[in-house]
Amino acid sequence: MSDPVSDLAIGLCKVHKSYGRHVAVQGLSLDVPRGQLFAFLGPNGAGKTTTIKMIVGLLRPDSGEVIVCGHHLGSNGLAAKAQLAYVPDQPFLYEKLTGREFLYFVAEMYQLSRVERDRTMSELIRRLDVAEYLDQLTESYSHGMKQKVVLAAALLHRPALLVIDEPMVGLDPRSVREVKDLLKEHTHAGGTVFMSTHTLDIAESLADRIGIINHGQLIAVGTLAELRQKACREH
Ligand code: ATP
Repeated sequence: MSDPVSDLAIGLCKVHKSYGRHVAVQGLSLDVPRGQLFAFLGPNGAGKTTTIKMIVGLLRPDSGEVIVCGHHLGSNGLAAKAQLAYVPDQPFLYEKLTGREFLYFVAEMYQLSRVERDRTMSELIRRLDVAEYLDQLTESYSHGMKQKVVLAAALLHRPALLVIDEPMVGLDPRSVREVKDLLKEHTHAGGTVFMSTHTLDIAESLADRIGIINHGQLIAVGTLAELRQKACREH
């Protein structure tokens, strides 16, 4: 019999977060089943990054509960974090490592075998077209180059949940296409993707389900068809 909690990649229950007196996320509840590509859509300042940081354990909610792959972040944070990979909107790399050294470091942290590391790395390097600069120090990389290497690092260990903040910002059109394919393939292989975006186009073209957030509140959630029906009923 299926277990409703562990069948979820993400469970948010009445999550609330303020910065001082400013309420960034209010009473947000949301379930994302495993194997879905979920797009979190909203304008600047809506609360997307704050929600994402609570999902990946970088921010603690003031109240409410966050469950990742069956583990409560509050009481079992390490187990939850072991299941996920996070690509922030400002990709972080160790500047004095080359891209290849960074990928080796990540592979070692996740205890990938050398064979598995080399196989997965060579596919990601080819598809993301990063070979040309992979042996340069990352301090010389552009935003898009960093973004692609961080994404390769996130996909390297095939996380159960990939959380990715604004994945397409700063990428050229060819890279956007490739990243879209990689994200879709990740869910087809059983993984879950939770991504934020400002852009309806990106959400429409990729997502199994879309959640719309504004002023810290989830105002609609569903498939594209469900959201269209809802919009028609309301107008
Ligand atoms: P964007 O699309 O512009 O990245 P977002 O939807 O990710 O926006 P958040 O970054 O979560 O939105 O911000 C939500 C609200 O919280 C905004 O009003 C923002 O100004 C505020 N905020 C975010 N981080 C902080 C912080 N560290 N201190 C104070 N206020 C913050």
